[in-house]
Amino acid sequence: MNTKKLIIGNWKMNPKTLALAKAQFSAIKKEAGKYKMVSVGISAPYIFLPELSKMASASLFVSAQNISSEKEGAHTGEVSSDMLSSMKIRNTIIGHSERRALGETNDFINKKIKSALRTKMNPVLCVGELERDSGMWYLGFVKTQIEECLAGIPKASLKNIVIAYEPVWAISSTENHREATPADFQEMKIYIQKVLSDMYGTPVHVPVLYGGSVDEKNAKGFLVEGGADGLLVGRSSLTPKKFVSIISIAHAINQNS
Ligand code: PEP
Repeated sequence: MNTKKLIIGNWKMNPKTLALAKAQFSAIKKEAGKYKMVSVGISAPYIFLPELSKMASASLFVSAQNISSEKEGAHTGEVSSDMLSSMKIRNTIIGHSERRALGETNDFINKKIKSALRTKMNPVLCVGELERDSGMWYLGFVKTQIEECLAGIPKASLKNIVIAYEPVWAISSTENHREATPADFQEMKIYIQKVLSDMYGTPVHVPVLYGGSVDEKNAKGFLVEGGADGLLVGRSSLTPKKFVSIISIAHAINQNS
């Protein structure tokens, strides 16, 4: 089976202006169209989504970075999945470590996933341990994240969900971050699939992306040796040239497999 790799850029709170966002998006879109063996998306700040979604195409989709756990009402500053869906935004990151650091718990993230699925949005659920010291505790940590974030989600909904394993210690904005290896990712991907299969009672295959300081030098390792189904790319997605290199690497891997 030759499933397309999924490459999503997470722009976080960047760039500074709509003009820059449009220029970056358009530079990526121009090149992304050449690489058919990969699905590419940009997770942009809410305020840019209406304009960027007008520019989206078959080769470049637009995604949110977060959604509200609530349907509507008195939730100042929040954006609901109904609002995003009404603007044809079909994808969103949920549970990113930078939001967990602001206090989002697994239970809260679980409500957000249910909210996304209710309007047929596709959530990218981020999981990952804060640190890697001695022992294997990080496996149990990620297991709890998955079990609690997906509690009550029916098996039929898994086809709409993607998991991104992003060890916080490897994210570029983490102080003194270290590079994860393809072997680190591969171990976790196998483990995540086991956790899901145990939860649902049968083997289930949810795509697992890798995220954490991905660039054009290490992307191939995570995709080939690590077996990642795709990549969630932060810092490198802000430089169209770097991001397009990563897209071209993912395309070449699928084309040659
Ligand atoms: C992220 O925070 O989702 C991320 C992957 O960031 P970076 O690539 O900059 O480490």
